[in-house]
Amino acid sequence: MSDKEQRTEISSLGEFGLIDKITGPFGKTHGDTFLGVGDDAAVIDRGVYFEVVTTDMMLEGIHFDLSYYPLEHLGYKAVSINISDVAAMNATPKQITVNIGLSNRFSVEAVERLYNGVRHACEDFKVDLVGGDTTSSASGLVISVTAIGTVDKDKVALRKNAEKADILCATGDLGGAFVGLQILNREKQEFLANPDMQPKLDSYKFVVKRQLKPVARMDIIHELAEKEVAPKAMIDISDGLASEIMHLAQQSGVGFTIYEDKLPIDKQTYDTAVEFNLDPITCVLNGGEDYELLFTISQEDHKKLEKHPDIHFIGYATDSKQGLNLVTKNNQVFPLKAQGWQHFNP
Ligand code: ADP
Ligand code: MG
Repeated sequence: MSDKEQRTEISSLGEFGLIDKITGPFGKTHGDTFLGVGDDAAVIDRGVYFEVVTTDMMLEGIHFDLSYYPLEHLGYKAVSINISDVAAMNATPKQITVNIGLSNRFSVEAVERLYNGVRHACEDFKVDLVGGDTTSSASGLVISVTAIGTVDKDKVALRKNAEKADILCATGDLGGAFVGLQILNREKQEFLANPDMQPKLDSYKFVVKRQLKPVARMDIIHELAEKEVAPKAMIDISDGLASEIMHLAQQSGVGFTIYEDKLPIDKQTYDTAVEFNLDPITCVLNGGEDYELLFTISQEDHKKLEKHPDIHFIGYATDSKQGLNLVTKNNQVFPLKAQGWQHFNP
């Protein structure tokens, strides 16, 4: 390497800056490549319908710790998080491929357990395993899944489709997966300090499950179709609500105002966050890994979803000039940041 060669730290760009930089120089050769990098899945024009393709990789030591991660759950989660990206396009998943990297630390039985989880997810989400790759790994377990789905052309929900005055909806409850991870890490530390100790997970079952076995919200996609509601812009909540709102805002050229008292949080998530001296709302906004859906609907569609127990109307789209704002329970307005909103926490 010459002394003059430039070296830029990846951290100075961040994940999204790096993706923009490396994918920016690529052009498009095929007319049927409808949408490339930048959404939850790529969109390919198959004539009468769109096909969507998405991939996500999980690495031992980065995304999971096998000292508390059951292999069945890991296999399930690796599929589920990809199905979640298919769901976020308002599409129906059809096929998956699975790549695994293994060291000789793993037995055949261990790999079978991993694949029991993959199979369980294939059954739950009605997808076919159609291929993959198996290789050795010097750095722990790797599992990478690619999912393919289809959607009617007029139903595809792109991140850029939100418009001013749309209602912003979030499914399920948020913050649980992050809080569950805190519990698992705490129990691991206590176990390392005292290996005779049994983990105390009974009263944290819900949040631990939110971390270990997230279930992609295909049920919501089917219900929206039944109720004839077309979500306009959609994204799945993998990195944290605030970050996903920022993506919808940037790509749609709108702002969003959300209301603290409308944010969905489970009681166990709330109580556990407090136990860890964490602000529950910060967990909801920045926690990540909940794999719920965030989408906008037109005001006319509100009535059709009004009574749905698992769809929450958390705010609305505004003019882009207004930016991203959080209205607190006592009516104070704070700018919403993808990370670090806690600095504004009164
Ligand atoms: P998600 O959280 O929905 O899985 P990501 O944030 O991982 O999406 O990725 C954002 C976009 O960048 C997606 O369109 C994804 O396909 C694309 N992308 C991520 N990493 C790469 C890469 N190394 N090369 C090409 N495209 C990438
Ligand atoms: Mg996504």
